[in-house]
Amino acid sequence: MQQYPHFLAPLDLGFTKLRNRALMGSMHTALEETEGGFNRLATFYAERARGEAGLIVTGGIAPNPSGRVFTGAAKMDTEHEADEHRGITKAVHDNGGLIAMQILHTGRYGYHRDCVGASELQAPINFVKPKKLSHEDILKTIADYAQCARLAQHAGYDGVEIMGSEGYLINQFTASRTNNRDDEWGGSYEKRMRFPVEVVKAVRKAVGEKFIIIYRLSLLDLVDGGSTWEEVAVLGKAIEAAGATIINTGIGWHEARIPTIAMVVPRGIFAAVTAKFKKEVKLPVVTSNRINNPDLAEQIIASGQADLVSMARPFLADADFVAKSRAGKAHLINTCIACNQACLDHTFGGKLTSCLVNPRACNETNLNYVPTTTPRKVAVVGAGPAGLSVSTVLAERGHQVTLFDAYDKIGGQLNVAREIPSKREFDETIRYFGNMLTEHKVAVKLNKKVSAAELIAEKFDDVILATGIVPRKLNIPGAESSNVMSYLDVLREKKPVGKSVAIIGGGGIGYDTALYLTDGGRETWAKPEEFAKEWGFDLTVSTPAGLTQKSAEHHKSPRQVTMFKRSKGKFGGTLGKTTGWVHKITLEERGVTQFSNVTYEKVDAQGLHYAQKGETKILPCETIVVCAGQEPLRELEGDLLAAGVSVHIIGGAKEAGELDAKRAIADGAELGARL
Ligand code: FAD
Ligand code: NAP
Ligand code: SF4
Repeated sequence: MQQYPHFLAPLDLGFTKLRNRALMGSMHTALEETEGGFNRLATFYAERARGEAGLIVTGGIAPNPSGRVFTGAAKMDTEHEADEHRGITKAVHDNGGLIAMQILHTGRYGYHRDCVGASELQAPINFVKPKKLSHEDILKTIADYAQCARLAQHAGYDGVEIMGSEGYLINQFTASRTNNRDDEWGGSYEKRMRFPVEVVKAVRKAVGEKFIIIYRLSLLDLVDGGSTWEEVAVLGKAIEAAGATIINTGIGWHEARIPTIAMVVPRGIFAAVTAKFKKEVKLPVVTSNRINNPDLAEQIIASGQADLVSMARPFLADADFVAKSRAGKAHLINTCIACNQACLDHTFGGKLTSCLVNPRACNETNLNYVPTTTPRKVAVVGAGPAGLSVSTVLAERGHQVTLFDAYDKIGGQLNVAREIPSKREFDETIRYFGNMLTEHKVAVKLNKKVSAAELIAEKFDDVILATGIVPRKLNIPGAESSNVMSYLDVLREKKPVGKSVAIIGGGGIGYDTALYLTDGGRETWAKPEEFAKEWGFDLTVSTPAGLTQKSAEHHKSPRQVTMFKRSKGKFGGTLGKTTGWVHKITLEERGVTQFSNVTYEKVDAQGLHYAQKGETKILPCETIVVCAGQEPLRELEGDLLAAGVSVHIIGGAKEAGELDAKRAIADGAELGARL
């Protein structure tokens, strides 16, 4: 049995003890602003406390109106607002946990007209110009932090986290990029760091000695005009002296154009930077970003790189991450794959946060897998994400499930997705579901393309069709020639592809295929040093904000790739809100060209013939890869219905438009909970 002695060791803070080294990092869920959301949040956090998270940090709460993320976003500057949190703190304490409230002042990142900043410098990711805080405003803001902390204490929290990284207000004071003041709050570094130091001092004074103060310090700003290493070290010491209990470490401002938490980022890459910082202070130090399994957490703590590991999204994916690690059930942890599709993409799209691999996240009060009193004999056809999800939920609830797949392994299209460089994390989803099938005794029949007659003969109470999709074909003269392939031919069948390629389709799969064909086997997602060279930063932080030149060598493509789409407008509109930019920059660096507003005419020995603005053109190319979307596959439905079988259809088989693994898994979970 795998053990995690360092990761699971308690941490004594003097006045209180954390039961292990897992800090659940701050995440805004949007329940904070939803009617009835505090009750749902209480259940959400209670499950994580029961799952043995060592110390939970809430989503950011503003200390005053101007610090809010948007108009109407959560703040705490009245006793009434603090009282609303009592259900959360009680629920966590009743389940043996500790919880700190994050105090977040957005500064120039506030999406509202009251937006303020250290200076009148607009953020490149905001449409509002901030108002510069006056000396009096600054003193008032410091007092607001202190009052907010006192109210958090009143609400029953065990501590607060002061958000000093990611480019929010505190960071905006410390960096010359955003602070051009010439009074006692700007100019020299000593003056720029005065604001955070005064905030920590005021908070400590307000809450007394026996209250946790976590300070989140930006180690690597990754923006021009960000802090140098010397400045970071000086600030760390000053924060320690001002009365913090724990220093959490942040990486990258939101406006940085270097990915820090996406799937392309190697696991645990920034622990090395935390290790460097840990030498500067005596306080317990937390590391974060892309730590998603207990083996890595154990390695980081055991090697002394950090005292605690912050995991935010992994606690969305699995509330029982720590409990499973302790009970020798790490193989059953539902791993966060860093896709951002249901968490950050939802947050930035104004939707409720959830999780692609765990649709129960933030739905704990309305999606539950209750044991059945009337077990049914169910067939599930298709072991893609939809079929895996429904099978495991039904079996967990006590139904008798048989799962068929025509292919020799489970996972469906996830086996294709995992071929894309940087998407190897999908292996974890396949691993999790595989182990859950065994745990809940699902009868799995692989290499079995099941027919309607066979399903009818076995007299199942229900048949669930999770048969997925078929790729759409190109319907033009020459489309049947051997140099025209589907993305499955390329990614799954590994057919040889020429040096010059046309990709038909600019959706997610078109982008993924372009990334695959231009990658050249570098696999930087698994190599921290190489990834840093590719994106232009330095893990030893020898330059200001850690920025260096991007390595051109790391962007050389083995092929010339051209992408096409029929619709007008820019490419990439359907990509993830928080990750699409990473793919766009990558393809640009690799010299991929893109044409929209085209019609396809024919394929012949010369290449692809297409028309744009009424003019026929030819792209000479050796291979044409069709990524033109998909159609549902449900050839079994008619015969089953005719025989009076109870049929349910989920995932791609139900609707192929705008299908992704998030919807497939959620479809399966919802049907599994209902049947
Ligand atoms: P599928 O995954 O297609 O599974 C259907 C299964 O049914 C197959 O295994 C098939 O063998 C089986 N089957 C069909 N007929 C029968 C039969 N008669 N008998 C037995 N078995 C049968 N989604 C995301 O959310 N994020 C991503 O980053 C992402 N990247 C992707 C990258 C690529 C390259 C591809 C191809 C897809 C990607 N997707 C991504 C999409 C995602 O994989 C699909 O949306 C998802 O797999 C659909 O799930 P499904 O269960 O409905 O169908
Ligand atoms: P998609 O996003 O719907 O894109 C299909 C592309 O094909 C579009 O560019 C469309 O553009 C084109 N097209 C549609 N019909 C066509 C036709 N008859 N002839 C020629 N071109 C046609 O679908 P996808 O790329 O296949 O992806 C499938 C699903 O997987 C998506 O819904 C996506 O969410 C998911 N996925 C997600 C990710 C991710 O990172 N989140 C990655 C990969 C896949 P025009 O109409 O403009 O030509
Ligand atoms: Fe992780 Fe994706 Fe779930 Fe977000 S949606 S928590 S990134 S698996």
